[in-house]
Amino acid sequence: MSDSHPVSRPGGLSRLSELAYNLWWSWTPEARQLFETIDPTLWRLSHHNPVKLLRDVKPDRLSVLHEDPIFIRQYSAVLKTFDQYMSREGTWFRRQYPNWNDLTIAYFSAEFGLHNSVPIYSGGLGILAGDHCKEASDLGIPLVGLGFMYPQGYFHQHITPEGWQEAQYEPFNRLDSPITQALDPSGQPCSVEVEMDQRMVKVMVWQIRVGRVSLYLLDTDVAENVPRDRELSARLYGGNQEVRLCQEILLGIGGVRVLRALGLAPKVWHANEGHSAFLTLELYRESIQAGQSHDEAIERVRQCSVFTTHTPVPAGHDVFPFHLMTQYFQPYWEQVGLTSQTFLQWGQHPDSPDAGFNMTALALRMSSHVNGVSREHGRVSRHMWRNLWPDIPEERTPIRSITNGIHIPTWIAPEMNHLFSKYLGPEWAQHSDNSAVWHRVTEIPDGELWAVRQIQKRKLMGFIRERARAGWMQQRLDATQVLAGGTLLDPEALTIGFARRFATYKRAPLIFSSLARLQPLLQDRWRPVQIIFAGKAHPADEPGRRFIHDVYSFCKDHGMGGHIAFLEDYDMHVAKYLVQGVDIWLNTPRPPMEASGTSGQKAALNGVPNLSVLDGWWQEGYDGANGWPIPTSLHLTDWQAQDAHDADQLYNILEQDVVPLFYMRDRDGIPRGWIQIVKDAIRTIAPQFCTRRMVKEYMELLYAPAGNRSPAMR
Ligand SMILES: *Cc1c(COP(=O)(O)O)cnc(C)c1O
Repeated sequence: MSDSHPVSRPGGLSRLSELAYNLWWSWTPEARQLFETIDPTLWRLSHHNPVKLLRDVKPDRLSVLHEDPIFIRQYSAVLKTFDQYMSREGTWFRRQYPNWNDLTIAYFSAEFGLHNSVPIYSGGLGILAGDHCKEASDLGIPLVGLGFMYPQGYFHQHITPEGWQEAQYEPFNRLDSPITQALDPSGQPCSVEVEMDQRMVKVMVWQIRVGRVSLYLLDTDVAENVPRDRELSARLYGGNQEVRLCQEILLGIGGVRVLRALGLAPKVWHANEGHSAFLTLELYRESIQAGQSHDEAIERVRQCSVFTTHTPVPAGHDVFPFHLMTQYFQPYWEQVGLTSQTFLQWGQHPDSPDAGFNMTALALRMSSHVNGVSREHGRVSRHMWRNLWPDIPEERTPIRSITNGIHIPTWIAPEMNHLFSKYLGPEWAQHSDNSAVWHRVTEIPDGELWAVRQIQKRKLMGFIRERARAGWMQQRLDATQVLAGGTLLDPEALTIGFARRFATYKRAPLIFSSLARLQPLLQDRWRPVQIIFAGKAHPADEPGRRFIHDVYSFCKDHGMGGHIAFLEDYDMHVAKYLVQGVDIWLNTPRPPMEASGTSGQKAALNGVPNLSVLDGWWQEGYDGANGWPIPTSLHLTDWQAQDAHDADQLYNILEQDVVPLFYMRDRDGIPRGWIQIVKDAIRTIAPQFCTRRMVKEYMELLYAPAGNRSPAMR
């Protein structure tokens, strides 16, 4: 196996690259420490990327470590843990479904956010998919992932001194990523072909190991393809509508073929968002070609298909014009014996049948097991799609909800992990969805918790300064950019974090609505407030880019006193520092457009309370004492009036509640009241909004029924 790893080391350390090529290391503290020990500087310079570290480390250094008994002991211990993990029989899945040996769940997603060394994600959807795979691995659920390689990844964000986002695409170096070529059962590199508009496109396949889960990634950049096709999978969300259609054909139809070519026989097919819904068409074709009738084929596809919808915004659903669909799918419908009318109807939205072929409509028609991603989003989705089931009352529309969560080992700060091990018990992570375990958070001494929070904050400030310094030294940033990037931030001041995609419905500039109220908050001599922003706008989203520009102009504004900062190039690496290091997490979406959101869950886990509009997950997460809700006025249809109203509420809460509580210290300098909220946030949010709870629900409510089993049938 290690043959396939470009980096392999001789002698006693030969399994280091095996560790580096399984992302298990990324959520296992001992494994992270092991790599850090090899070369702390390279570890930092590589942004915590062991594949790159092993490529760059000096052979001398490895020789020294090879002779170092302490290192060898550490190395052996990590390998032992790894081997136990990989072989572990006593998993949750084994206990719940002891006789279910032939289950494979195929999980399709256009993006996966696993680690910053694998840049194949843009935002929340991808992070959710990555966290889902990691948790499935931890629980022992037999899942395989299917997605895209994207040789150029998602773009890197650079902000010009004028405040404009520039999108920079760099081909990412596969040799620096834990990616290997996927092999078919005969040991040959796996590849498939997909017909597209009268031509054949060849697809090759890469593999990433995520604990016990394998993720397979499609790539069309192969010599046999014409240049245009080689570019098809180059970028995430990069092309025009036709490129996007081609990508979705590759993902859905090509994805099914890839799994077949790998010798896998999934019983359950999960489309995470409508991008991969064409997989149902390939399953339908398989059934027809196996001799089933139309009705039987539809029934079979519906039975084994799971679909998760992610957006309550009508424009968030992919819709392809009928002429493009005809161009690409006429051979398909002829082959399976459908009329164009029947075929195209599969993608019609009942409320706007002429709008085009809607991928969500297709997925809903073809899947018996469907969910939205928060309670509120489930409700909104049932309303949006009620007319697909005209005979059923809206509340019984078959779309349930499973609220998103986060993979705790991925998002927790090491120091916080340490603190929890001390006070919740060393096994706490095994029971992270058990509220009783989290109740012990109340027993953590306030002073210790506060001290860890301070360490987290200093780490964030150090990270910000080092990035600014590096940009300055590389002459990539001028003085203005260095200041706007947060070098004037005060490690003692109450620090608000706001980081997410700059989609306009998230209203990043809302807090600047009234400078007359904001400025006194920022510049209070004794109780200053500062705000750190980060996030990318989709390159084609002009209003989103303008929002970045607007926020950036405040970062440069002398009148703001350096209390506003914008961190470039938001990704998982930056996200970790932010959710772990700020004091409070702000979210101001225009309700009900935030389907769930997850960054606030990461923050809460690390002792950072939420200050957020009651939308998405927070609507069910807020319990009256674990953070602050921003009351919004839903009945205001005038957006400007709504913004003014919501901003007003936000200032009220900051002035009257948040700032006074944060700065109310006792004789030891500890904000007792604040710590109380921090504890409530951790205690109530962590067990509920984690992937352990979430993936168990997927298993019990969707996968088991789709695979035609229930735990009771064991
Ligand atoms: C968690 C995360 C997101 C999702 O955040 P939301 O709260 O859903 O907006 C997006 N991008 C990155 C890099 C993240 O880590």
